[in-house]
Amino acid sequence: MELDLKPLALTGVESKRPVIIAGPCSAETEEQVMTSATQLAGKGIKIFRAGIWKPRTKPGGFEGVGVDGLPWLKRVKEETGMLVSTEVATAKHVYECLKAGIDILWVGARTTANPFAVQEIADALKGVDIPVLVKNPVNPDLELWIGALERINGAGLKRLGAIHRGFSSYDKKIYRNLPQWHIPIELRRRIPNLPIFCDPSHIGGKRELIAPLCQQAMDLGFDGILVESHCNPDAAWSDASQQVTPDVLSYILNLLVIRKDAQSTENLNELRNQIDECDNNIIEILSKRMRICREIGTFKKEHDMTILQTVRYNEILDKRGAQGALCGMDSDFIKHVFEAIHEESVRQQMEIINK
Ligand code: PEP
Ligand code: MN
Repeated sequence: MELDLKPLALTGVESKRPVIIAGPCSAETEEQVMTSATQLAGKGIKIFRAGIWKPRTKPGGFEGVGVDGLPWLKRVKEETGMLVSTEVATAKHVYECLKAGIDILWVGARTTANPFAVQEIADALKGVDIPVLVKNPVNPDLELWIGALERINGAGLKRLGAIHRGFSSYDKKIYRNLPQWHIPIELRRRIPNLPIFCDPSHIGGKRELIAPLCQQAMDLGFDGILVESHCNPDAAWSDASQQVTPDVLSYILNLLVIRKDAQSTENLNELRNQIDECDNNIIEILSKRMRICREIGTFKKEHDMTILQTVRYNEILDKRGAQGALCGMDSDFIKHVFEAIHEESVRQQMEIINK
């Protein structure tokens, strides 16, 4: 399904990159909301975020202040002039937000993963013209992400955007949620006119990662940043470790280098031609390699051998990894490439053996 989109057209917000949405993970108290908002507005932030309903992994955590917090956001709007945004996960949340005059809604990662919940939100939004940002689902599934956007678009909402907040994985290393940048990049390729925001707070899970993640997002041509900022991060009731003060946020944003996203210089064209040629060579050489693999397949068939020769396979991966490293590439990267090549070789040999 093709999405029928319109620009976000956020009143009072310049549409130049990056559009910044900032505010605490959760609205906690009226004072915390007003202090955070006033400080952010003082730093030139035009769009405020605060979670009113918080989806928590386990019961017993702070699950948000609920509808009581909506008048606080209204106050933010009136007193700072900022637009205000929050997460909706049910039809009731949508109705309450519309009643309270919230300007922008977002769908959280856990909700995007559930088509029933997304459809319920879409149905509740029928006939309403409000910007809706859809976070990626917790699992790395681009189709599920696009499906959620399609459901909301299908309800007639055209001012849509996506938020990349990383993907959960069993092993936690550097990131709280792995960026897997190729997924939002593929989203951009599939839906070129959809604005994409990066949420460095939920990807990184720690303050120190906010700046580098924002820079990476800008270098990849993202349109905006949704980031958690709290007047007293250490005392935050949720996601304390990934929030920064409005002061620190402003410092980070001022250091960002925003490169032009459309390059059309002659030089770049020339370099791109060279890349095309390299890619052609890679494909040609791969096809030659596959032809040899098919010959090996015929030999294995005639001699009644199994396709998978584990010793040889491991040897190839190790050797190629080391060769790659000698040529200035990451050995794991080269191993991945050869794993993929091997998978296709095996598939082709299977065809021959089973003929
Ligand atoms: C949030 O933005 O505070 C939030 C709960 O994010 P996510 O849905 O990405 O986990
Ligand atoms: Mn959060």
